[in-house]
Amino acid sequence: MTDRRTELAENLARVEERIAAACAAAGREREDVTLIVVTKTYPASDVRILHELGVRHVAENRDQDAAPKAAACSDLDLTWHFVGQLQTNKVRSVAGYAQVVQSIDRLKLVSALSAAAERAGRELGCLVQVALDADAGERGARGGVAPDGVEELAAAVDDAPGLRLGGLMTVAPLAGPYAGRQRAAFDRLMELSSRLRATRPAANMVSAGMSADLEDAVAAGATHVRIGTAVLGVRPRLG
Ligand SMILES: *Cc1c(COP(=O)(O)O)cnc(C)c1O
Repeated sequence: MTDRRTELAENLARVEERIAAACAAAGREREDVTLIVVTKTYPASDVRILHELGVRHVAENRDQDAAPKAAACSDLDLTWHFVGQLQTNKVRSVAGYAQVVQSIDRLKLVSALSAAAERAGRELGCLVQVALDADAGERGARGGVAPDGVEELAAAVDDAPGLRLGGLMTVAPLAGPYAGRQRAAFDRLMELSSRLRATRPAANMVSAGMSADLEDAVAAGATHVRIGTAVLGVRPRLG
C-alpha cells in the first residue's frame, strides 16, 4: 500500500469506529447512518483510493473543483453530493455529475436546478439547507434558509420537474443561540425534519455532523454525516 492509502485507510477505520460507537450509544443500527466523505480540496487520486476502501458517497462544495474531479472518477460507482453555496450559473455543471444537492436555500436555485436537471435528463435529490443562526425570513452566513423558510422551499421542490425532495441538511452554527451547542442544533434540525416528514414521509434524509461533531449528529438522529478532515486530513487551504 502507498503511504497515502495507508493513511486514508487508518483514518477511515477510525471514523467508522466513531460512527459505530455513536450508533451503539444511541441504540441505532450502523446501517441507518451513511458516511459521506467530503473530498473538497483533495485530488481525484484520493477519491479513487477512498472508493477502493469502500466509500460510495463523496461530497464537494465548489463546482470548479468538483466538476473535473467527478469527470476523472466517472468510471466509479459513486454518489456525488454537492454541499456548498451554489450560484445559479454553476447549476448546469453541477446537474451533470451530482446526484444530490444538499444546499437548497432559495427559490431561484430550485427553478434553475429543475431546468438543468430536465435538460440533463436526470433526477436530482434535493435537501433544504437550514441555517439555525439565521433570523426569520433570512438566510445564513454559510448558506441555508431560516427554519421558517423550509416549507416554502420544500413545496417548490415538490412541484419542480427533475427534482426530488430528500430531506434537510444543516451545518452547526458558529454564531447565534446554537453556537457551541451542536446537540441542541441537531435536535432542532430533527424537529424540523419530523415536521417535514409528517406530510412527506419520503423526505427522510437528515444530513448533519462533520468531523468534530458527528457523535452529536448521530445521537440526534442524523441519517447522513459529512466527514472531511477526519478522513483526509487538515485541508491545505480554506474550503
Ligand atoms: C467541509 C464541509 C464538511 C466537512 O467538514 P470537516 O470538518 O472537514 O469534517 C461538511 N459539510 C460541509 C457543508 C462542508 O463544507
